[in-house]
Amino acid sequence: MQTLLVTGGAGFIGGNFVHHILERADVRVVNLDRLTYAGNLDTLASLASDPRHVFVQGDIADAELVGRLLREYEVDAVVNFAAESHVDRSIDGPAEFIQTNVVGTFNLLDRARDYWSGLGPAARAAFRFLHVSTDEVYGSLGPSGLFTETTPYAPNSPYSASKAASDHLVRAWFHTYGLPVLTTNCSNNYGPYQFPEKLIPLMILKAQAGEPLPIYGDGGNVRDWLFVLDHCRAIARVLDAGTPGEVYNVGGNSERTNLQVVDTLCALLDERLPDSPHRPHSRLKTFVADRPGHDRRYAIDASKLKRELGWEPTETFESGMRRTVDWYLDNPEWCRRVMDGSYRGERLGSGMGG
Ligand code: NAD
Repeated sequence: MQTLLVTGGAGFIGGNFVHHILERADVRVVNLDRLTYAGNLDTLASLASDPRHVFVQGDIADAELVGRLLREYEVDAVVNFAAESHVDRSIDGPAEFIQTNVVGTFNLLDRARDYWSGLGPAARAAFRFLHVSTDEVYGSLGPSGLFTETTPYAPNSPYSASKAASDHLVRAWFHTYGLPVLTTNCSNNYGPYQFPEKLIPLMILKAQAGEPLPIYGDGGNVRDWLFVLDHCRAIARVLDAGTPGEVYNVGGNSERTNLQVVDTLCALLDERLPDSPHRPHSRLKTFVADRPGHDRRYAIDASKLKRELGWEPTETFESGMRRTVDWYLDNPEWCRRVMDGSYRGERLGSGMGG
């Protein structure tokens, strides 16, 4: 039995990863999540009776707690998803991003180092610390070119700067202390269980309700979209077979402008909701003032991961978007409880972006 300490496993990608990795019979997950607004236990409800999933509400910056969990559960690997993840929120209030993404990651690394250095030789050799990061650390691209693992870091938002700082700490804990770390830098994810402040669920839920679909600037910002379960498969593959100290870029070769994303969603909704009074949903599109410092284009070269570890995405943008629209329409209760705040007993304001 392999025991993983998964942090942020009540969030979007972490929640999908927990479901994905528990499909393996020989894995146990200790899921450490602070349950910020982005943490949602509804996402984990179907695991309630699975003894291989242990949920712990707590902060990755809590040194005593992290050290205790590592020892008590004899953890074989840490997978760090926990983060403040929303660019717009980082512009309004960067302090929380520094605290969780930088100080929290530092604490996890240092507790992991302490625990790892006390293990026997075989367990020490097998231990892994996988840090989940973003392509936003590389900054913005012009109309051509791709981010590779050697692209210099040039973060432009408080969010991406805090993630860049955490990536540097992870690198340093390998080079200085020998902790067997792995870092993945992934492009924009979409799919089930994503909090509806992010572009794709926000647009699906607003369009369904007949509300305006707010699009930043001219809608021409380009992101490279990856279906979340393909990201989870990549993380599992890197955890199993990645070389400690290495960085792996993860991306779907699916560059789309925000406008193309919204048009795709509107067409899928027109198809799925033939009787909706809001058809054609594309008439709900509304252009709003751009986000400050909005990076124009991100695109990932994932050839190292494909070449060295044999990973390939299983979904195209079209098939993944269809699955995503189907999921949000087929899970109205999950959506309702997020939208009305009952998933955490309070009402939320509506954000936007991604
Ligand atoms: P999310 O905001 O949906 O989830 C983050 C989770 O972390 C939440 O459950 C939250 O409660 C938890 N958390 C926050 N602060 C914590 C703390 N101090 N201690 C413990 N738990 C805490 O984020 P996501 O979109 O699932 O992203 C997960 C990771 O993947 C992040 O590190 C993010 O930078 C990275 N990433 C995201 C994307 C994307 O498109 N969403 C792309 C590439 C990389």
